[in-house]
Amino acid sequence: METHISQALGRSEALQEAETILRSCVHCGFCTATCPTYQLLGNELDGPRGRIYLIKEMLENGQASDRTRTHLDRCLLCRSCETTCPSGVQYARLLHTGRHLAHELAPLPLRERGLRRLLRATLPYPGRMAPALGLARLIRPLLPRTLQRKIPPASPVTRPAQDNPSTQTRKVILFQGCVQSVAAGSINAAAIRVLNRLGIQTLAAAGESCCGAVNHHLDDIDTARSLAQNNLDRWLTLIDGGAEALVVTASACALEIREYPLLFPAGSPYHAKALRMQEHCLEIGDYLARQDLEKLRVRTDAPAMSFHAPCTLQHGLRAPGQTEALLRKAGFDVREPEEAHLCCGSAGTYAITQPRLSGQLRENKLRRLESTGGEVIGTANIGCLLHLQEKAKLRVRHWIEWLEKYCV
Ligand code: SF4
Ligand code: SF4
Repeated sequence: METHISQALGRSEALQEAETILRSCVHCGFCTATCPTYQLLGNELDGPRGRIYLIKEMLENGQASDRTRTHLDRCLLCRSCETTCPSGVQYARLLHTGRHLAHELAPLPLRERGLRRLLRATLPYPGRMAPALGLARLIRPLLPRTLQRKIPPASPVTRPAQDNPSTQTRKVILFQGCVQSVAAGSINAAAIRVLNRLGIQTLAAAGESCCGAVNHHLDDIDTARSLAQNNLDRWLTLIDGGAEALVVTASACALEIREYPLLFPAGSPYHAKALRMQEHCLEIGDYLARQDLEKLRVRTDAPAMSFHAPCTLQHGLRAPGQTEALLRKAGFDVREPEEAHLCCGSAGTYAITQPRLSGQLRENKLRRLESTGGEVIGTANIGCLLHLQEKAKLRVRHWIEWLEKYCV
C-alpha cells in the first residue's frame, strides 16, 4: 500500500517504520474475519484493514478526527489479525504508532486522559497498588456495583518451602510482576513449588520493576523504556551469575519482555541487552515444556479444565496449544472452547477504558468456556484471570496453581 507521509508530520523512525508496514499490507481482508471487534460491531473501521486505512489516511493528511481516534482505541491489540495475515503485516507496531499520533492530533477529553494517567501512576507500582486495593476491599460496600466487581478477592498465599541451594544446582529468575504480585501472589508461590520439585531454585531480582506493558499499552513509551532498562540491568547481573532463564508466569509480561528490543534503537547498548534477555526470557509453559515433568508425579483425579488461552500467549508469543499439550501430557483433561482464538476482552486496561465492548467479549468467552463441561477455568495471564473471574460461574485459576495442587 503506497503511502506518502505528510511533511507536516516529519520523518521520525516510527513513521518510517509505519510506512514500511503499510507497504506490506495487500488489503486482502483475510484478517477481518478473525477480529473480535469487527465481529461485534460489523463495521469495517472496527477491523484491522479498516484501521490500517485510517492510519494511512492520517499519515497522508497529517490530521485525525475523534472518529479516527475512537476506531483505533477500540482495538484490543489482541493480534488475532497478525496470526491470520498471510503477508506478515506487523499490525501491532503500526497500531501503536497510529494510536500515539491520533491522540496527539485529536486529544481525548480531559476526563479520559485523567483516567489513563491514574492507571499509569498506580497499576505498575505494587507499593501504590497494595494499599489502594486494601482500602478498596475495606470500603467495597460503598462503591458502585461495577467497581465492586473489579476488586479481586484477597488471594491467600501459602509461603512455599524455602528454595534449597544445596540440593538445587539449577536456578532461574522468577519475574514478580506488578498487578499479579498484589492481586494473586498464590500464582508465583505455586510456580516456586513446581520448580523446586524439578530441582530448580528460583531467584527474585532485587529492585525489579513492572515489565512496562501497562505504560506501553497506555501510550507512555518513555516510562516503559526506563522500566525495561532497570529490569535488564538487574536480570542480566543474575544471568551472568549463573541463572539459566527468566521465567514469567503472566503471558502478557513475557510478551512485553521478549519484545524489549523494539523499545531501543538498533545498535544501542540497551538494544543489545534486550536481545540477550530475549534469549533467556520464557513464559512458564514454554519453560516447563523443555523440562522432564515425570519428576512431578501428577495425580489423575483432577476435574476437567476449560482452558482460556490468552491472546498474548497464542497470538503474541505464538505458542498456540503449547500449554494445553503440556497439561494433557501431565495427565489433565483439558477442554478448549469454540472460537478459542477470540479475546476475552481483558486486553490490559481495555476492560477499564472500553467497558461495554470488553463486557460483551467476556460474556461470549465465558459462555463458550462454561459449555465445554470443564469444572474449572484455567488460564495463563493475570489480566484474563481477574477479568473472567468477575463474572464466571466456575472458579478461574492460573494453570500452574492447578498443576501444583495435583502434584503428589
Ligand atoms: S493486514 Fe494482512 S490480512 Fe489484513 S488486509 Fe493487510 S495483508 Fe490482508
Ligand atoms: S489486534 Fe485484535 S482487535 Fe485489533 S484489529 Fe487486530 S484482531 Fe482486531
